[in-house]
Amino acid sequence: MSKLSIRGLSKTYAGVVHAVRKVDLEVESGEFLSLLGPSGCGKTTTLQMVAGFVSPTTGTVMVDGMDITNAVPEKRDMGIVFQSYALFPHMTVAQNVAFGLEMRKMKRPQRDDRVAEALTMVRLSGLENRYPSELSGGQRQRVAIARVLAIRPRVLLLDEPMSNLDAKLRGEMHVELRALQRRLGITTILVTHDQVEAMTMSDRIAVMANGGIAELGTPQEIYDHPTSEFAFKFLGQTNVIAGDIASIEGELATVRVGSVSLKAKIGGGQNGRQIKLFVRPERLRICPSDSCRTRGKIVTRLFLGGVWFYEIESGLGNLRLSVVNVGAAQPQEGEDVGITWNDGDLQCVASEAANG
Ligand code: ADP
Ligand code: MG
Repeated sequence: MSKLSIRGLSKTYAGVVHAVRKVDLEVESGEFLSLLGPSGCGKTTTLQMVAGFVSPTTGTVMVDGMDITNAVPEKRDMGIVFQSYALFPHMTVAQNVAFGLEMRKMKRPQRDDRVAEALTMVRLSGLENRYPSELSGGQRQRVAIARVLAIRPRVLLLDEPMSNLDAKLRGEMHVELRALQRRLGITTILVTHDQVEAMTMSDRIAVMANGGIAELGTPQEIYDHPTSEFAFKFLGQTNVIAGDIASIEGELATVRVGSVSLKAKIGGGQNGRQIKLFVRPERLRICPSDSCRTRGKIVTRLFLGGVWFYEIESGLGNLRLSVVNVGAAQPQEGEDVGITWNDGDLQCVASEAANG
């Protein structure tokens, strides 16, 4: 089990492209941590610096207290699976998995033992003699992972390894890979732009934006209490309501939106009276008029199977609201409905506009 420390890590390409800016990150021994963010935010560059394929402009990478910033990739004991994890088509499954061991000059029968062990881990025993073309996409993916696990790396680095799989298979791989990672207790960093993937698999998620870490926490912490507008919007969906702070008592602020007064949870980072309130669609509820906080007219109703999704024109602007489908009758498009929520479901966080 290995602990990874990243301190002040930056990468500037050609003196002008600031791909990664002063990233600090501690990945605990046995932890599964995801770097989550939109394309171009610096995830791959960060991972490549950890792996040793890209040299940092500033900063250090340490494993178990040892500075490896300038070590060559082969000496880092890290296993990497990329998005384009090409298997050798002319080699069998067993030969593909043995490849890295041969490169390390490992002799038979130890090599055979390692291959068998790695294939057992990814549940591919029995398929040793197949060729990649005789495997499904998910099986090929597992061979790529077995090939890396066979060298028994201290750290596992995954760069969007599931993005070529179809949605259903990807979902299965999430569960399978997470279970394997837990069983082996191997320190893992996953790079992904897929928030569901990051939330399903991770102990913690680092949300990246513009080369820096915008948010760091457990999936639930950063989904329920993001501290930035960017994270609110990047993870799941949110309504945005603009208003003015009238007063603050402890954690709750009174915010005026037009002629309406609302209570909202203060998240810090607000500057000035003008603020934005954020509330997720599933925190809003349709309710009887005598207990509702605002009213609105349903403009769109979508059936998504597990949930009904509404867009409602209200006194607070257009609100998106979702209702779990439990088989009950639902209001129709054009109907007037009451809307409510709990104190604290409305949150104010630092808004993008306020921070430039
Ligand atoms: P992500 O993996 O989050 O999509 P990357 O780390 O690949 O992001 O890229 C971050 C930024 O660095 C992007 O603006 C990208 O264009 C730039 N970049 C990446 N690699 C290079 C390179 N070798 N030379 C110049 N710019 C690069
Ligand atoms: Mg990338």
